[in-house]
Amino acid sequence: AKKLRVDKILSHLGIATRSESKKLVKQGRVIVDGQPIKDSGLQVDPEASTIEVDGQSVHYREFVYLLLNKPQGVVSATEDKWDRTVIDLLDAEYLAFEPFPVGRLDKDTEGLLLLTNDGQLTHELLSPRKHVPKTYEAKVLGAVNETDGEAFKAGVTLDDGYRTMPAELEIVRHFEEEGEAHTDIRLTIMEGKFHQVKRMFEAVGKKVVFLKRISMGPLQLDPELSLGEYRELSPKELDALR
Ligand code: URA
Repeated sequence: AKKLRVDKILSHLGIATRSESKKLVKQGRVIVDGQPIKDSGLQVDPEASTIEVDGQSVHYREFVYLLLNKPQGVVSATEDKWDRTVIDLLDAEYLAFEPFPVGRLDKDTEGLLLLTNDGQLTHELLSPRKHVPKTYEAKVLGAVNETDGEAFKAGVTLDDGYRTMPAELEIVRHFEEEGEAHTDIRLTIMEGKFHQVKRMFEAVGKKVVFLKRISMGPLQLDPELSLGEYRELSPKELDALR
């Protein structure tokens, strides 16, 4: 497999900068395959060799995959002039990988967002040809009914003339709030147009007042994650994605 300089590996993982690596090596604190190394530019295959710094083993990987429970009020971007971004929620050890969000959730939408630096996987998940299903839970102002379900199944025309692909609506419960009819629903869509769920309900004369994504392809939102929390994908989840 690919060989990389030890100082590169340590800096990529956010463990030490190049010059810090040099010092660590000089002080005999970097061990490769059981031996202290003498040169921070030594080339090693991180998948075939063991690397330790101060007795801690270094687990190298090229890509990271993070499952975030996005809170409201942060934007799905890597940079923004005004708003906090989902990247601002990450610890330094992950920033070194330069992850980015796979697709977007609106600023006021919560829930499952995958962050990774794996461009190929991102491309596949977002490709319009792949029809990766995404399921949302929403609170809707209005009495959502079976007729809306039929309309979503057939495809509705959005405000810009786009006709949506078949989507699956599940009505969870009807209730009243401040004297107005509301409905909790689940909706699964196979595409991801801008503000799609909100605009689909607008197309049937109703209004989404709360929106949360609970799944994307094989990934489910982890109930252990509070809003703003994240974790790495398990090997099983990663396998299911690829
Ligand atoms: N549909 C929307 O309207 N907003 C989102 O954030 C995601 C899907």
